[in-house]
Amino acid sequence: MVKRTHIYHTVSFMEDKFDLLYFWGCNFDCRGCIRHCGHWDHNLSSDCLSRLKTLNPSQVFLSYDEFTKIINNLRNSIVFLGGGEATLDPSLPWIASKLYQSNFYTVLQTNGYSIFPEMWTSISKGIISEIRISLKAISPALHRSLTGYPIHNVLSNLKRLHKLGVRLKVHTTFIPDVISTEEIQKLAIFISDINPNLPLRIDPYVAVPNTSWKTPSTEKLLEVAETAKKYLVNVSYIEGLKSKATLVYP
Ligand code: SF4
Repeated sequence: MVKRTHIYHTVSFMEDKFDLLYFWGCNFDCRGCIRHCGHWDHNLSSDCLSRLKTLNPSQVFLSYDEFTKIINNLRNSIVFLGGGEATLDPSLPWIASKLYQSNFYTVLQTNGYSIFPEMWTSISKGIISEIRISLKAISPALHRSLTGYPIHNVLSNLKRLHKLGVRLKVHTTFIPDVISTEEIQKLAIFISDINPNLPLRIDPYVAVPNTSWKTPSTEKLLEVAETAKKYLVNVSYIEGLKSKATLVYP
């Protein structure tokens, strides 16, 4: 039987100098997930998206052989593993080690909830170059209400990764109607207690169809970033991509 990864989509961002591999599925069920807008990268041209929308992502998972060939078509030396939740793919250690052998700088984007034992082994060997953990909230009840899942695993995995000396970054999404300035403050204090030098990136929420939440103004985003900066040395907020996406697969 042909071995398959959970990768269903790959795009390049030439000016931003990275490629993005999309993994199918997620263990969380976030109300504000961008995937509610579609499974294909929305930075692609409308013609390309029209074609992709006729495909079923679960039927185009890359086989191991196909993935080995796709590596040659990636256009940048930095590769993000996202989607979707890459840690749900049992092939992830194999994928990471293939990228490592080909000298890519690999960034795993994860909700940090469930990192399986073989993956911990890969991480401790330095096969993943950087991990970005998305922390949706710091208050347990709010985290559960936003994601459907408890926060405990995420926080303990974040601490464990830090102890391993992995290059780490925390991402959070600022949703004005849901995440207060005090919540961002508590989150910054939690990270600062681990290490005040841990970078925090605050992304503005992008409105999706199944909520009435609004995208924050730049002023409000700056305001919460300033709050976080009282506790952390390195706080950023997302800047738009410079380039359109170029399709690599399918
Ligand atoms: S963790 Fe990320 S990919 Fe998964 S449901 Fe939440 S926002 Fe979507």
